Amino acid sequence: MDALRGIAVSPGIVVGKALLLGAAETHVPRRTISPKEIDREQQRFRDAVAGAITDLSVLRRRTEGQLGAETAKIFSFHEGMLQDRTLLDPILATIASQRLNAEAAVSEQFDMLTQQFRAMKSDVFEQKVDDLLDLHRRVLGKLMGEEEDRIARLTEPAVIIAHELTPSQAAAIGHGKALAFVTESGGQTGHVSIVFRAIGLPAVVGCKDATVHVQDGDEVIVDGDSGVMIVRPDAAAREEFLKRGAAAQQLRTVISANASLEPVTLDGTRIQLLGNIEFPEEVQAVLRNGGDGVGLYRTEFLFLTGEETPDEETQYQSYKRTVELLAGRTCILRTLDLGADKWTQGMLQEPERNPFLGLRSIRFSLKNQPMFKTQLRAILRASAHGPLRIMFPLVSTLMELRQARLILRDVMEELDEEGVAIDQRPKVGIMIEVPSAALMARTFAAEADFFSIGTNDLVQYTLAVDRGNERVANLYTAASPAVLQLVKNVIRSGRHVGIETSLCGEIAGDPVFTMLLLGMGLRTLSMVPAQIPVVKRVVRSVDIGLCERLARKVGSFDSERQIQTMLRDELRKLDPANFGGWAAA
Ligand code: PEP
Ligand code: MG
Repeated sequence: MDALRGIAVSPGIVVGKALLLGAAETHVPRRTISPKEIDREQQRFRDAVAGAITDLSVLRRRTEGQLGAETAKIFSFHEGMLQDRTLLDPILATIASQRLNAEAAVSEQFDMLTQQFRAMKSDVFEQKVDDLLDLHRRVLGKLMGEEEDRIARLTEPAVIIAHELTPSQAAAIGHGKALAFVTESGGQTGHVSIVFRAIGLPAVVGCKDATVHVQDGDEVIVDGDSGVMIVRPDAAAREEFLKRGAAAQQLRTVISANASLEPVTLDGTRIQLLGNIEFPEEVQAVLRNGGDGVGLYRTEFLFLTGEETPDEETQYQSYKRTVELLAGRTCILRTLDLGADKWTQGMLQEPERNPFLGLRSIRFSLKNQPMFKTQLRAILRASAHGPLRIMFPLVSTLMELRQARLILRDVMEELDEEGVAIDQRPKVGIMIEVPSAALMARTFAAEADFFSIGTNDLVQYTLAVDRGNERVANLYTAASPAVLQLVKNVIRSGRHVGIETSLCGEIAGDPVFTMLLLGMGLRTLSMVPAQIPVVKRVVRSVDIGLCERLARKVGSFDSERQIQTMLRDELRKLDPANFGGWAAA
């Protein structure tokens, strides 16, 4: 029995069988084959190469259509490499001469070439190493079975264990095939962690060496409440964790009784609690949990889960459905937040060196105007069906906001000329998630209709801590005096100019922060739907005066630890029976 510790990112405790993903290169099967098997292994290898070439040509055509011929060149280059006899013949020869199975022969040849290229010590060959690793993975994937096939073949849901999962991979696996998720990389507010919470399954990230300690089919316990994975548990451990899981579930049931109550503080202040969603269907979860509407619709997830780039009609149908499901309630739709860890890197000939500081979010949209305009057309068309606000992500300069607004105006005129019904005065806001925007909030407030503070990114850009990197996860916290000063400045600026300010980072759904956020002046919080009842319970147990006193005290502290301790203590004091677990360090 092994116990591995990571970061708890989505609650719940389950026991199940492990399915290891992305382990192709580290667990290559190796066996000696009989002379009779040589022809068959060589044919398996030829078939795998042919399959990989077909996949590459599909990718090339799709990328050409979406991002242009230049970007698609990488795939034709890879197709060419897989047709090169100097690469293929030695593998066929190895299968015959060393009587090795195809997987082992492929790995031997690719490993040797990789070493030779690395020994050249030149930038050109170093880049080619990445191409080799990519092709190696592709051909092995074909030989050992594609991951999608392995997931599809599962007869019962499994605990998915991987070094790393992208947000789109996690969303694609979703319910039905997964019981829980464990990854070696990742942090509390990384995008994939947000997807785990949206799916609603227990998840632990930053779990070092998980893929080394676990074999496919091993029984594991995943504790998404405390961030632990137990590998091959004994009977006593299994019983203890199941008991703990049942108690946590009971508490969640008690808390969920708050869903139908009004989020009003003891002194009668009405707080608006909204949900963050990735797909229209999640509106039901928002309403079920007693949310007032949607404060953040992460529209890029439609791009992350489909085979094709969604066209205007597909996008329009999604947005319209969301608005209709909300039936007149608040709906804040964020334009595409692509780039960084979402969607674009795999299509670039040369991935960005610092993608989180690169062509991301509104920058990507402004550089890819046809795509941006298509989305704006779909949004505006949906705005005819109910209230819909538009929000631009990661705005860092005023010019970006102005440019985005100009494009929006162009699209509105275009639709008017076509006689298409739209909301003629849609509210246009921005996310404040970069220090430059937070510092200049007063200026931005004059040109935006509303603000939504995105602390997930604001923390990473203020503290220079990658939100998805487990190595620096201990430095990542919103309880930072620097971050809180920026948040305070945004709230003050919004109030000064008279525009609404809300907060939609993960701390909006963390009860440890609720009193502080109310005390700082926020009256609208948007969070993962499942957290709405918990936050509602805190709201209903506090007085705004108490929250303001707490915020003032926190404002005088100069260390993260002091702030965190104080917030936890105050929450515990409020309701030790129900909030004890959340207030625990
Ligand atoms: C944020 O950065 O706080 C935010 C809500 O946006 P996302 O998590 O999608 O980057
Ligand atoms: Mg963000």
